[in-house]
Amino acid sequence: MSNILEDTKFIMKKYNIKANKSLGQNFLISEEVVEKIVESSQIEKSDLVIEIGPGLGTLTKYLLEKAGKVICIELDTKMINILEDRFSLYDNFSLLNKDVLKVDLKKIISEEKKNSSIKKVKIVANLPYYITTPIIMKLLEEELELDSITVMIQKEVADRLIAIPGEKETGAITYSVYYYSKAEGILEVPNNSFIPEPEVTSKVIKLNIRENPPVNVNDKKMMFKVIKNAFMQRRKTLLNALTNSKIFKSKEEGIEILNQTGLDINIRAEKLKIEDFANITNKILK
Ligand code: SAM
Repeated sequence: MSNILEDTKFIMKKYNIKANKSLGQNFLISEEVVEKIVESSQIEKSDLVIEIGPGLGTLTKYLLEKAGKVICIELDTKMINILEDRFSLYDNFSLLNKDVLKVDLKKIISEEKKNSSIKKVKIVANLPYYITTPIIMKLLEEELELDSITVMIQKEVADRLIAIPGEKETGAITYSVYYYSKAEGILEVPNNSFIPEPEVTSKVIKLNIRENPPVNVNDKKMMFKVIKNAFMQRRKTLLNALTNSKIFKSKEEGIEILNQTGLDINIRAEKLKIEDFANITNKILK
């Protein structure tokens, strides 16, 4: 039996914890998986790590050994007692009892950078699956000064996030992730690596934040609006989807723009590269 499994059972018994399904609580019990997450996040002593949903503190313990500082954000008050008992003696440990979606991460990061010798900021988490997408979109769209995001999420979502736009398994979100980061799959994780077992297979992914965007687009928000509308009707041709949603003022305008961008007028959204969406957006804005 691994130590993590023993520790988890012991802590759950001591504090009378039953995993709260509605908070996405699936606690990691695999030493191998925890070590792989920590190793792939390449943490250094000059790093600030922000851990979302530390739960019983399984991952936290490893992060505290490696990082200059660890800020944990946990919504469940029951976990707060446990985390304080376990880690209050570490001088690089800090804990916020908050909903991560409501936390001003930009402010936290800029204050940490101002007041300490922190160089890079890394997000590491076994995320609560019921809010995977909003959390990842918040981390990317707020344009925080992040170096990387290493997270465990549902495999199905993971594969969509790390897909290459224009290839298989893409969705509108694939383009956002690609715009902001270079994504890589790290490890598939079977259900029996958690207590309780989640209903889906999991996967660890790492998003390495880009210094510069991969395409030049005059209005990034508009490009993401075009992409969203294109994928809302993904079974239709791109021309019909963007005409129906009034992104193209008329079918004629749409045909002209597609011709100018060198795209077939019968093409579907999932075949487009991010450059194609950037070109279409720049043409619409003209
Ligand atoms: N890190 C622990 C582990 O690996 O064993 C627990 C991971 S568990 C999948 C997700 C954690 O996120 C839970 O501790 C849960 O209470 C917490 N959580 C759920 N919703 C949250 C929110 N909105 N903000 C912050 N934490 C949240």
